[in-house]
Amino acid sequence: MIFKTTLFTILLFTTSLNASGLFTKDKMPEGTKVWSAKDINKLCNQNFSKMIDPLTKKQRKRVCRYAKTLDKCKSVNGKPIIHFNRRGFSKTGKRILALSLIHGDELSSGTVSAKWIERLHKLRPRSKWRVIPVANPDGWLKKSRLNANKVDINRNFPSKDWDRLALKWWETKKKKNPRRYPGPSAASEPETRCLMAQINDFKPDFIISIHTPLGVLDFDGPRVVPPKNLPLPWRSLGNYPGSLGRYMWKDKKIPVLTIELQGSHGVEELEKFDRLQDLSGTVAIRAHKILKKKARN
Ligand SMILES: [Zn+2]
Repeated sequence: MIFKTTLFTILLFTTSLNASGLFTKDKMPEGTKVWSAKDINKLCNQNFSKMIDPLTKKQRKRVCRYAKTLDKCKSVNGKPIIHFNRRGFSKTGKRILALSLIHGDELSSGTVSAKWIERLHKLRPRSKWRVIPVANPDGWLKKSRLNANKVDINRNFPSKDWDRLALKWWETKKKKNPRRYPGPSAASEPETRCLMAQINDFKPDFIISIHTPLGVLDFDGPRVVPPKNLPLPWRSLGNYPGSLGRYMWKDKKIPVLTIELQGSHGVEELEKFDRLQDLSGTVAIRAHKILKKKARN
């Protein structure tokens, strides 16, 4: 009897919660929410209208219907991390994964991604592309380099030397600078695990990571002849324990081109970055040729 009464009370309670809308889909906390295609489209529109030099309504309408997400791709605060695919049209083309705003305060990097996505749908690109415009949505909302757990995602990848070096480097070389905190353990952050899931799912031949403000093209990969007329100087800045460059190039031999845009203001001369997109594709093809030759020898 007691059991029956309890069950009845629970049922009544649940029904009243549903009736009041407390547990309906829209009211669920973001971390547990099931995101529909409509939600993702809406989020895409919000993201691309908030960028510096945002996409127009017409451009957003054209690209946002292609917005997708992977199940694992949610930020600490439960925001989905969206991506866009575009097929390649040439046999020589490669699989290129481009991402930006892994550092949420590097605002113009997101603009370049957004314009690239829009451009890819107007062209017949050689390579197959996947673009992740906002890799750190919580950081971006707060204009912070770090994620909501105050971790630098670009020091949190599980490179082979993470356990041995990541925290040690941070403590000694970076004097515990909070902006470079690699996290409590390798791949502790959902944003890092999302990017790992993306790499696993898309299987890129080449990765482009867009940052600001150093104004260089920093390449972790085999020795390639850089294309002529690059809009930024070609330099090698090196990589760090837990960085994408170290994790993907040093450990897995997938080249990473880090585009460091100049300055932290708006993106001027966007056509220069259109050219950079094409030239990055050329670097991907050249790097792949060298790696294939090396693998044969
Ligand atoms: Zn950065």
